[in-house]
Amino acid sequence: MFLLIIENLILFKYVTWKTCCMYTISCRDVGRDCDCVVQGETEEEIMKNAAEHAVKDHGYKEEDIMTHEMKEKIKSYIRKS
Ligand SMILES: [Zn+2]
Repeated sequence: MFLLIIENLILFKYVTWKTCCMYTISCRDVGRDCDCVVQGETEEEIMKNAAEHAVKDHGYKEEDIMTHEMKEKIKSYIRKS
């Protein structure tokens, strides 16, 4: 019984941690006609995912996204939940 409570607590913590620290960028926020929401667990990961999505689905070139200006722009759209 005691162990079960501990297990639930750990699970609960894990779930809260998972959902509280997700970074998301919605393409609609960026002004794209696209329902995609890019997610990542870290800022680095979401930047990578957003870049991949932009290249794959929006016809961007990788070097267009890797500029300092573009990175800052993408960062400004990141929402942390
Ligand atoms: Zn998109």
